[in-house]
Amino acid sequence: MFNALVVEKDDDGKTSASVQQIGLDRLPEGDVTVAIEYSTVNYKDGLCVGPGGGLVRNYPHVPGIDFAGTVEASDDPRYKAGDKVVLTGWRVGEAYWGGYSQKARVKADWLVPLPDGLDTRQAMAVGTAGFTAMLAVMALEDHGIKDGPVLVTGAAGGVGSVATAILANLGHDVAGVTGRPETADYLKSLGATQIVAREDLNETVKRPLEAEMWGGCVDAVGGEMLARLLGQIKYGGSVAAVGLAGGAGLPATVIPFLLRGVNLLGIDSVMQPYDNRVRAWARIAKDLPMDKLEAMVQPAVLSDLPQLGRDILKGQVKGRVVVDVNA
Ligand code: NDP
Repeated sequence: MFNALVVEKDDDGKTSASVQQIGLDRLPEGDVTVAIEYSTVNYKDGLCVGPGGGLVRNYPHVPGIDFAGTVEASDDPRYKAGDKVVLTGWRVGEAYWGGYSQKARVKADWLVPLPDGLDTRQAMAVGTAGFTAMLAVMALEDHGIKDGPVLVTGAAGGVGSVATAILANLGHDVAGVTGRPETADYLKSLGATQIVAREDLNETVKRPLEAEMWGGCVDAVGGEMLARLLGQIKYGGSVAAVGLAGGAGLPATVIPFLLRGVNLLGIDSVMQPYDNRVRAWARIAKDLPMDKLEAMVQPAVLSDLPQLGRDILKGQVKGRVVVDVNA
């Protein structure tokens, strides 16, 4: 028997989450059984743990869109007992049972061997949010980062914190946009050289083009903020659009694309092919300073998750929450 956070739905459609003891026979089919060590709290987890079940496809459900741990048993030749692995994406924690558990059984294709230089806790301090931040930085690099500060929106959140630390470590000036002025010192400790107040960017776009200010952008917020910042990107620069914490609408015009050659790059971490995942994890191990990663971490245990799910949906989580599923 092992512990897992199980979300159930009653006959009235009401969902509830509780830590339960379950047996290995309850795990779904898969090639690899993993003894999970750590998972994390991402925005999607907030939706899945909270009332209504968000993105959950079937009940009962074990949420947790990412995990890191040790292979316990494997029917796939690529993995053997004792291997350290990390998983992000592939709708694990939404359509398939996920990381809020001491055990998981998954398809071998969804796993990545832990890269040299990262342990399982560090891998989950990065987690889906940090993995996505790395994908965003790589997409900006592929299209060329222009001179000038790189803007990071939702900077004090998970994606924003990791993107800030990586970009600063790569030598870029980073301007962090935050709605929480009290996080300014934290963002500077990650390497941000400029703090931009959320309200300065959160107005409905009035002029489609403004002064060219930013050499690129990692945007975790979307909505009106994305619409506004598109008109401030330098000629030929790019925005890696990662999230929608501020809304799914995009009240923008085509003018920044037509007159400034701005690129809007969509980032999806869920269906990344194996080679890309390996490449991104290797870059994380190389380009993300571990002392800065540690400064982002807030520890948690399984029973904390319902409250943390509510907090992340309200934009109140700072940095990354690492869940020790065995504590
Ligand atoms: P967090 O909640 O940790 O961070 C989001 C941050 O956005 C908050 O901390 C806050 O930052 C800011 N924010 C929140 N609400 C608003 C608002 N109404 N207006 C403006 N800013 C706001 O979430 P994550 O970093 O984990 O995820 C960010 C987004 O990225 C989510 O939408 C998530 O679903 C998405 N995502 C997408 C992935 C992909 O594959 N494309 C993978 C992972 C995440 P501050 O306080 O500094 O202003």
